[in-house]
Amino acid sequence: MTDDTMKDIICFLKTNGETDMKEIWVHLSKAGAFQTSASDTIKLCKILVKEELFEYPLWLQNDVIRLIIDESDINIKKEIKIKLQSDGVFCLALTEQFGGSSFQNVKTQVSDNSVGNKKAVGKKVYISNGNIADNIIFLARDSDEKLNLFYTDDLNNMVRGKLVLSDAMGRYDLAEIEFVNTKCQCLYTNNALKAMFVLNKAMAVERLFCSITMLVMTKSLLEVFLRVYREKRDMLQGSQYWKFSYAKMKLNTHLLETYLSNLEEMYVEGKAILPSDVAIAKSYATDTLKYILEKTEILLGAQSILKSNILIPYEAYSKAYYSAGGTNEIMKEIIGADL
Ligand SMILES: Cc1cc2nc3c(=O)[nH]c(=O)nc-3n(C[C@H](O)[C@H](O)[C@H](O)COP(=O)(O)OP(=O)(O)OC[C@H]3O[C@@H](n4cnc5c(N)ncnc54)[C@H](O)[C@@H]3O)c2cc1C
Repeated sequence: MTDDTMKDIICFLKTNGETDMKEIWVHLSKAGAFQTSASDTIKLCKILVKEELFEYPLWLQNDVIRLIIDESDINIKKEIKIKLQSDGVFCLALTEQFGGSSFQNVKTQVSDNSVGNKKAVGKKVYISNGNIADNIIFLARDSDEKLNLFYTDDLNNMVRGKLVLSDAMGRYDLAEIEFVNTKCQCLYTNNALKAMFVLNKAMAVERLFCSITMLVMTKSLLEVFLRVYREKRDMLQGSQYWKFSYAKMKLNTHLLETYLSNLEEMYVEGKAILPSDVAIAKSYATDTLKYILEKTEILLGAQSILKSNILIPYEAYSKAYYSAGGTNEIMKEIIGADL
């Protein structure tokens, strides 16, 4: 993807903030946003976050969902791939109510009818782009109770509802989806083991992009912190507290950036990235972002409660990033799994 195409995408998003989300994603698809290389998706992700366009996690469709489809053996793979790269909007439905991040709690059931067609029953929650997607990849149990990944575009046999989010995340499309005898196909026929292997690989990519997003947020917040500090410098002079806080923020941001750049390089080169290495990045990114948000908010003082407070979108989206794709506790479990 050329720099000009990236600039066009950013310009389009900035000037079409009120346009219907579905139209926006279809436009992005047509503009080539889902045909990018690994290095371009990283670059695009960084620019979008820097521009505070938090509601467009393009990497989800481009890198996470594409990986799941690329490795599947579904007989309509070619058709799905064409949709993925032309004008299709996809979503990945894993989470269920009270299921949390553990896939073992998934209850959605796929059964074969008398002529061998598959139908799904169950409910998914907190699904990014779940309302606007016309193609849904989901996790469910097959007739042997094994977890596998499935594909559906049977939109008539499902009920979708938009979840109402806080004002700061108003544009983000988050859905709940109920499958009501929804026709579907298995992505990994008779190979539940491979399905889970690929899903774990896809989750590592998801966590890499969450970490990159949090790093860019952290760097932007560091700039906010410095600006506010300079405005209040005379009042704060002599206080070691802020100097130490700033030093810690700078140190952690630097370490996170260095650690992540290694993972990014491996990802771009097509090398396998270990789930525990990415979990370290996500856990550290979460802690760093939380710390910097808290310090900047304290430094802002009374301004931090105003509706116009510059931290509001950061607060809302950082909360989402702590949770999306697994909470910080889950990251610790993955990191310590070899104990
Ligand atoms: C913006 C956003 C987008 C999302 N997009 C998608 C999507 O596209 N597809 C999708 O499938 N899901 C999506 N999700 C859901 C996301 O994957 C879940 O939010 C996440 O897995 C955590 O599950 P939960 O929110 O139910 O939290 P819970 O699992 O209920 O966790 C709540 C708290 O319980 C504690 N906890 C949970 N598990 C453990 C444990 N094992 N050990 C110790 N403590 C624990 C932690 O303190 C945690 O913070 C999205 C979520 C958000 C916020």
